[in-house]
Order: sequence, then structure tokens, then C-alpha cells
Amino acid sequence: MGCQTFNITVIGAGVAGLTTAYVLSQNPNFKITVVAKYMPGDYHAEYASPWAGANFWPMGEAGSEQAAFEKATWPQLFKLANERPESGIAFQKSYIHTRTEDVGKAGSLFASNDGNLPWWSSLFPDFKSLDSSELAPGIHSTFEFTTVCINTAIYLPWLLSQGLGNGVAFKRAVVEHVADATSLHENPEHAQVIVNCTGLMARKLGGVDDTSVVPARGQVVVVRNDPEIMTTASNATSEHNTMAYMMCRPGGGGTILGGCYQVDNWNEFPDPDVAEIIKKGCVALYPALTQGKGADELSVIRHGVGFRPLRPQGVRVATEYIKGIPVVHNYGHGGWGYQSSYGCASAVASLVEREAKIGAKL
Ligand code: FAD
Repeated sequence: MGCQTFNITVIGAGVAGLTTAYVLSQNPNFKITVVAKYMPGDYHAEYASPWAGANFWPMGEAGSEQAAFEKATWPQLFKLANERPESGIAFQKSYIHTRTEDVGKAGSLFASNDGNLPWWSSLFPDFKSLDSSELAPGIHSTFEFTTVCINTAIYLPWLLSQGLGNGVAFKRAVVEHVADATSLHENPEHAQVIVNCTGLMARKLGGVDDTSVVPARGQVVVVRNDPEIMTTASNATSEHNTMAYMMCRPGGGGTILGGCYQVDNWNEFPDPDVAEIIKKGCVALYPALTQGKGADELSVIRHGVGFRPLRPQGVRVATEYIKGIPVVHNYGHGGWGYQSSYGCASAVASLVEREAKIGAKL
């Protein structure tokens, strides 16, 4: 397309929209406007990104599209943790325990029946499966490796500022119909491509109306106590769909204690019973969190609820023509939007480039 400019409107300023805008903005021919109802700094359950821990614990099954997106994202997060501490991403040692009764039942983050290491173990140079003599009672295996923790309160504004630095415009708007986003572009000539990063709300966006996207409700307790490690244990038989995990956000962000995964639960308020389960579960998982003094010693900063945008059939990264306008979708990342963010954004960039080439030939 030579030096012809190409106008793009991205709907959504969660990690998907901001990463996509940032990646697209590295092409000087792309003129990008991001429009969103919620922006970094806002908190609402339907805006998932601020609530995430967030970390990189791969969850895609071996050979899946999700696994490929996660694998493609890891080098980018690794680079940011190494070279850009101001992004709010830092390395942290993590321990993933699989309880004996959960082997083969708890997903690809945990131990499988066949005894093979998970596909993702080769991403981490210091990965090791602890020797049986080092395992706690009731634990079948423990994976130890260094991953990253992302302080979302720093990282989301950082992504936005990288976009601003590359000339991306940001606007507040609630888009009723996806095609309306063309005229929301800064340039009066309007957008030639729309990128749809609306997460859960893709179910209500006119022209998309993807009601297969549902909330997988996550509740967290943010505390001042510092475990100095990131850890979790499988809990495949939990009655409340809870699973204890903890990670300490870099830059003084506090420790996120989780969590739950309640599909199609639209309660946007913290449930006090679930909060108690989370607090007690985390202290049981790692008593050193409160120096062995129990859950009452937790110093709570706040409680929170976020809806993971779950699309049971998988993330939608694809082009669709709606009212004659190319719309590139990037939504439905469930509980892995950060850890797949760069993989998905670069797939979106390829689809947008294709549309730009088609546009240049017309
Ligand atoms: P969102 O962050 O929800 O953003 C959607 C954007 O679209 C918002 O700006 C919204 O205002 C905008 N929008 C929607 N509809 C419209 C409209 N009609 N008009 C204008 N704007 C609109 N992921 C990980 O990778 N690692 C983790 O450790 C992790 N932990 C998590 C823990 C919890 C408790 C939760 C809740 C999630 C966690 N996740 C984690 C998942 C991750 O947070 C999500 O996958 C991710 O935030 C989804 O990002 P998104 O940009 O698609 O959606």
C-alpha cells in the first residue's frame, strides 16, 4: 500500500484493545482511534482487564490455537520484564501444585495422567518438577519456574501511553452498532477497518450480538501481605468453583488473592462468603503469607469482581464484513487475555494488513 494511510477504529480499551492498538501503531501508515466505554483507571465488573492478577500461566491445551497465542506472547512479556520495568511487569518465582486426586482433571496448567511434563514447560529455562521428597502431603507434583506478574494498574496506562506516543487517538464512546465505529475515527474520512475488542460486551454490540460470550465471574481479595512467591493448587472438585492462588503485583500493587470461576454468574458485587473461602484457602495454601498466624492477619486493601469474557468455543480472531465494512474480531479471551495478548494482536495485525492491501488495490 506504499505510504497511503489507512484508518482503523479499535473498539475497546482492555488489554486486548490496547495491545492491538499498540502493535498496529508500529506501522506508521496506520492511523488509529481507540473508542471505549471504559478506559484504564476505571473499575467495573464488565471491564475485566483491571481485575486480572495478572500472570502468565499457560492454560491452552497442547496443540490448540490458544496455546499458540500464549506461546507467541511469552517472549514479549519476558522482554518487557527484562527491559521495561516501568511497564509494571516483573519476574516472580511460581509454584503450581497438583493435588493427588486432581491429576489429569484440572487442565493443562497441572499434572497430567501420562506423567509427561506440560507443553509449556520448555518455555521456562528454570522449570523443574520437584522431587517427590520435596512434596507437601496430598500433593502429587509441584512445578517450579519463574514467570511474570503484571501490575494491571500500571500496565494498562503504560500500554495506553505507548499508543499515545505512536499517535493513537483515544475517545470515550459507547458504540451501539459495530458499524457506527467508522465515523468515530478521528479522521473525518472515517475508518476503513474496525477492530472489535469488546470482550464480554461483544454479546450486546449491534451487528455482532455474540451471545455465546458469557461471564466467568472472578472474585479477588487484594491484601498488603507479601508472600514473595506466586502459587496455586488444583481444586478440581470445588463446590463453589473456587481455587486458591496468589501473586504479588510489582511496584507496590499489593497481593492478589483468588479466586473463583463462576460461569454465567452476573453478580458484580463481592460475595462475603466467597471472600472468606478465598482468604482461608490462600492461607491454607501458603501459611507463610501471614507468618503462620491465620487468615485474620490478612490486611485487606479491597475486594473486587471481574467478569472474564468466556467464549466456550474459543477466542474469536477473524474478519467479518458487516454492512460492507471489514470488522476484525479479537474477543472472548476468558481467563487468559494477558497471556495471549501479543499473539492475538499480531494475528489481528496480519488480518488488518490484508484488508489494507485489498483497500489499496480498489
Ligand atoms: P475487557 O478488559 O473487558 O475490555 C473490554 C473493552 O471494551 C472495555 O474498554 C469496554 O469498555 C469496551 N467496550 C465493550 N463494549 C463496548 C461498546 N459497545 N462501546 C464501547 N466500548 C465497549 N488473564 C491472564 O492472562 N492472566 C491472569 O492472571 C488473569 N487473571 C484474571 C483474574 C481475574 C479475577 C479476572 C476477572 C480475569 C483474569 N484474566 C487473566 C483474564 C483477563 O483479565 C481477560 O481475559 C482480559 O482482561 C480480557 O480483555 P479484553 O480487552 O478482551 O476485555
